[in-house]
Amino acid sequence: PYDVLVVGGGPAGASAAIYAARKGIRTGIVAERFGGQVLDTMSIENFISVSRTEGPKLVASLEEHVKDYEIDVMNLQRAQKLEKKDMFELELENGGVLKSKSLIISTGARWRQVNVPGEEEFKNKGVAYCPHCDGPLFEGKDVAVIGGGNSGIEAAIDLAGIVKHVTVLEFASELKADQVLQERVNSLPNVTIHTNAQTTEITGDENVNGITYIDRESGAENHVELQGVFVQIGLLPNTEWLGNAIERNQIGEVVIDKHNATSVPGAFGAGDCTDGPHNQIIISMGSGANAALSAFDYLIRN
Ligand code: FAD
Repeated sequence: PYDVLVVGGGPAGASAAIYAARKGIRTGIVAERFGGQVLDTMSIENFISVSRTEGPKLVASLEEHVKDYEIDVMNLQRAQKLEKKDMFELELENGGVLKSKSLIISTGARWRQVNVPGEEEFKNKGVAYCPHCDGPLFEGKDVAVIGGGNSGIEAAIDLAGIVKHVTVLEFASELKADQVLQERVNSLPNVTIHTNAQTTEITGDENVNGITYIDRESGAENHVELQGVFVQIGLLPNTEWLGNAIERNQIGEVVIDKHNATSVPGAFGAGDCTDGPHNQIIISMGSGANAALSAFDYLIRN
């Protein structure tokens, strides 16, 4: 059996595995796709100490760093069930079962997509999901935010300070964001909000050049010319496979404390799949390190 088994091979999982292995304990990492969301990222400018890098390049460095240690890397393996008997038993989709004394859950998250024509085609060419990451790329340009919940309105406020103009498109008849955020966004001169707006297409040639939406009240089709679209309709944690084995909150995030401990002794959570407030590469790596050190603490006490 493993001392520490890490489920998920994004920045959180890679960091957790390295921190665990450096304690000289038997460490394994299971990942459906080593690298996680970072593989889908073109330009990274907020990984502190590196001015600019690209996702696949950062993943290659992560992989190399993990290989410096005796870590069993089981890539292209999907976990589908977790049980705790005398040890944790992790069942893989291929039927295999891995046993471990402690567990770190770092299966990340995925952005909900609007699923309209142009979204897939212009990903990283104007279609973005993370204002902290990609906001500065649109300095002085016109952008849209799809979604009028808290994350959409936070994004609009954030972007309004960087870009020329922000158009917010909300499908429902009113914004769902907290009142204070609504008041703030309404006070900004360079933000226009359309409710009852159903996005139907993201247009472009090489890059995004506009967005089309239908006014659900009048039925009229409108087109706005712009250079960027931020999709902000939710981030879904990849935790369905946990079922009831570990406590998750209303939106499915693994609930952790400041030691990254979950509801089950010996199981820790790290990164975007947990209920931490901000989802970033550097935060996930710190979270993975914290989880691994807590797992080591647990092991020497049990
Ligand atoms: P993830 O990166 O999501 O990794 C999860 C891992 O778990 C993957 O290996 C996945 O395959 C695996 N997994 C999932 N389910 C299972 C399962 N059932 N069994 C086994 N393995 C499983 N952040 C920044 O700081 N700067 C940026 O510039 C930036 N740009 C971004 C651009 C895009 C397009 C996206 C999508 C995100 C961006 N982010 C950026 C956010 C950043 O990528 C995430 O915060 C970070 O990757 C989270 O790390 P993680 O390890 O928690 O999860």
